[in-house]
Amino acid sequence: MEITRTIKYEADRVKGFGDEVRSVPGCEQLQSCIQCGTCSGVCPLSIYMDYSPRQVMALVRSDFKNEVLRSHTIWLCASCYSCTVECPRQIRITDIMYELKQRAIHEGIYPKKFAIPVLAKEFYKMAYKYGRVTENVLAATMFLKTNWLAALGMWRLGLGLLKRGRFPLKVESIKRRDELDRMMRTVDRLNIDALHDEKKKITSHRVEAAT
Ligand code: SF4
Ligand code: SF4
Repeated sequence: MEITRTIKYEADRVKGFGDEVRSVPGCEQLQSCIQCGTCSGVCPLSIYMDYSPRQVMALVRSDFKNEVLRSHTIWLCASCYSCTVECPRQIRITDIMYELKQRAIHEGIYPKKFAIPVLAKEFYKMAYKYGRVTENVLAATMFLKTNWLAALGMWRLGLGLLKRGRFPLKVESIKRRDELDRMMRTVDRLNIDALHDEKKKITSHRVEAAT
């Protein structure tokens, strides 16, 4: 088997990214990773991943934000928790994967033609806006955004479903959407405040460490 080496450059690091992830409840143990590779060994999906779970832990710790958030690995993680159960340092790898997915969506840094993050983003948008998810519209949007040629190839199926009334194009919505909107805005504001607090904490720790 041919071994290929990828050189990582200092300039590609986004300093503070690892600290930010570690500051999230459940991700604190990340620093104690010993790079044993047990997580990659037990992961049933690692053969399909661009970076193994062990590599993702190393990249996060070393502040390679863009590589991690753009990777397919975090989206292929099926949340089976095998890695978390087996990790000798009790690192909650699955929770770290969740945190990375959230960041990728919020910051818009994810593989744009990869169906899983696009589906997650559209699901979030629809639930946020309408309080409900209309599955067929969601699936159609995902296909159009990732592989519209595949969607075109399924026109016969779509037409059949439409004729039988099994493919309603009307987006379902809850009543009193204004209340949902207020609730979501409050949650967003709380999240942003919490993020600012964490950033301030990390900066002050750095200043303390430097003096
Ligand atoms: S199993 Fe735990 S300690 Fe070992 S590489 Fe994975 S995260 Fe690190
Ligand atoms: S939780 Fe995700 S990364 Fe961990 S073993 Fe399962 S699929 Fe792999």
